Amino acid sequence: MNENKINRRDVCKTLLAFGGLTLGGLSAKGQTTAPTPTSPSLDTNLQDPKIADAVKRGATMEEIAKLRDPIARSPQEALRALKTGNARFFSGQARRPELSAAERRAQILGQTPFAVILACSDSRVPTEIVFDQSLGSLFITRVAGNVVEMGTTGSIEYAVEHLKTYLVVVLGHEGCGAIKAALLPAEERARETPSIQALLNSIVPSVSKIPKIRDEKAKLREAVVANVRQQVANIKKEPAIQRAIASNKINVVGAFYEITSGAVDFFETDEELRVAQNAYDSCNWREHLA
Ligand SMILES: [Zn+2]
Repeated sequence: MNENKINRRDVCKTLLAFGGLTLGGLSAKGQTTAPTPTSPSLDTNLQDPKIADAVKRGATMEEIAKLRDPIARSPQEALRALKTGNARFFSGQARRPELSAAERRAQILGQTPFAVILACSDSRVPTEIVFDQSLGSLFITRVAGNVVEMGTTGSIEYAVEHLKTYLVVVLGHEGCGAIKAALLPAEERARETPSIQALLNSIVPSVSKIPKIRDEKAKLREAVVANVRQQVANIKKEPAIQRAIASNKINVVGAFYEITSGAVDFFETDEELRVAQNAYDSCNWREHLA
């Protein structure tokens, strides 16, 4: 698929920055474009020696909190930090940054996450681990099928309005059980509890327009990506999000986490995020509250 190819190229660029590793038969070989240089602060911030020194000399929580450099200062840097973190994760170089006890204590003074992520509740998609990020870096709302509804919308808007996050990511994943259930015939979904049915009903419009695909794995991937695109569109319909996008404060992107490889493909351009015809207007979480 086109979006897969585009994002794999991106991943390969990141791999180049990590020494030309290969992933699942994909090789960085042949990529002529130089990888985007990574700001040293993006990579070294996780184990900051300044903070280690301050802890040794008995600095206060306020002093420690001020010493920590921001991981990102723009939507572009936020996306790059997630990509490089994921590359560390899937290439076996994760740092598992948990912060020192002093840094953790200093976090009581406030939080400054650089990205908000709408992810699935699936136990195989632990977001901080997948992006190799530390405590306090990501503001995460998780619900089966990573759908936009009142709670997730409020959480995303809170992060954008009050925590000044730079990036909103809708993260779907390989083998999503919620999406698989939403693809079942209506009579089978009707056997679920009312709450599960309501959840599935908020996914069904996103996945009902996908083309007929015989291969089950490919069909599920297509449905997951269709749902990601739809949820990105739903988030972008909210006035608070539209204002933040218009003033270049945030970007909203989609992503697909492949459990088998550990790699995340991002959908960033209008083309990659285009919702299939007929799906957009029929999918609004508010309709499912009626
Ligand atoms: Zn899932």
